[in-house]
Amino acid sequence: MAELSPVLKQATPVLAERGEGVHIYDEDGRRFLDFTAGIGVTSTGHCHPKVVAAAQEQVGTLIHGQYTTVMHRPLLRLTERLGEVLPEGLDRLFYVNSGSEAVEAALRLARQATGRQNAIVFTGSFHGRTMGAASLTTSGTKIRAGIGPLMPGVVVSPFPHAYRLSMSEADAVAHALRELDYQLATTTSPQETAAVFIEPVLGEGGYVPVPDAFLQGLRERADQHGFLLVADEVQTGFGRTGTFWGHERSGITPDIVITAKGLASGFPISAIAAPAAVMEKAWPGSQGGTYGGNAVACAAALATLDVIEEEGLVANSAAQGERLRQGLEKVGSAHPEIGDVRGRGLMQASEFVTADGAPDGATAARAQQAAAKNGLLLLTCAPHGNVVRMIPPLVVNGEQVDSALELWAASV
Ligand code: PLP
Repeated sequence: MAELSPVLKQATPVLAERGEGVHIYDEDGRRFLDFTAGIGVTSTGHCHPKVVAAAQEQVGTLIHGQYTTVMHRPLLRLTERLGEVLPEGLDRLFYVNSGSEAVEAALRLARQATGRQNAIVFTGSFHGRTMGAASLTTSGTKIRAGIGPLMPGVVVSPFPHAYRLSMSEADAVAHALRELDYQLATTTSPQETAAVFIEPVLGEGGYVPVPDAFLQGLRERADQHGFLLVADEVQTGFGRTGTFWGHERSGITPDIVITAKGLASGFPISAIAAPAAVMEKAWPGSQGGTYGGNAVACAAALATLDVIEEEGLVANSAAQGERLRQGLEKVGSAHPEIGDVRGRGLMQASEFVTADGAPDGATAARAQQAAAKNGLLLLTCAPHGNVVRMIPPLVVNGEQVDSALELWAASV
């Protein structure tokens, strides 16, 4: 009899039978508040009726039409619709199926567009598990260990992590930009550098928002040296951080935006957007894949974008994120083992540390498991497992946030 591989290690013993809104129900009918949203995927809530209806209708019409042979309306409509929400000028798109594949595609595109090879990433980054994406990932050795050699030409520069560096945010930004300039003078010359990849809020790295001044500094350097600024919005896109895009509040425009997760409420699809001048450097056959832009996933994405707009989910993310943050800070202030509470919008985290400030993954894991027993599903993250993350569906309401906070307070 076949069994699941041990790579599929589960943090809780929950066997999910169905999902509805912010809840997951197990086979015994037990209800869990899902503050993981399948790692930031089910933003419109589990099985939103509009998404379900759109997918069901599309399943009965056309499931798969391969774009190298036949084009289909859901793909064209989604492209038009994404054009309305993407930053101005990023109006050329193609599709693959997951965050990692989209990162991989952006890496290829950056090399195609610039003719240069190297990529700059930051400490704590997570861009995925395929070989190129894993090469760009620095948030945990377990993702990279034993699979090398990885891609050469990846340069890691320090992230402006004020808490970890014990610095003010302004000092952390100045430090990180100085280090980046040093890398550009020593390790990867501007003429060799194709792109810098950044998540507007570190995801697996522990929900650390990128200071606006840092993104602005990256934009200046990209313009100065002619490399591309790639925003990995896989986790932060579609309202997750309280604005439509995570990079938005900094006022900069990236050269490439990568999206996935929240795009289609759980259907596997990801999109890569760039200006025509960048995209025209890629040629047919060099990007995409068999399932890219699947018709059912496109229909689900269109319904997801409608729900985000009609239900005001971006504003809800900002408001409920603030409520969640305040509640987490209150819990944190009563628990010295919680060294930092941080995040943006509905991406909020509590970092567990020992008395001398070292990462305390064991206490975080205990709190995560106690929360699951209490009916609240949460995430921890690499590299030390000491950050407990909350990333509920964007449809969460105040009452549900308060219930989660009560369960959290009873679990730490
Ligand atoms: N990029 C970011 C910022 C992510 O958070 C993730 C996944 O968590 C990925 C890329 C990889 O996405 P996937 O797991 O869909 O391959």
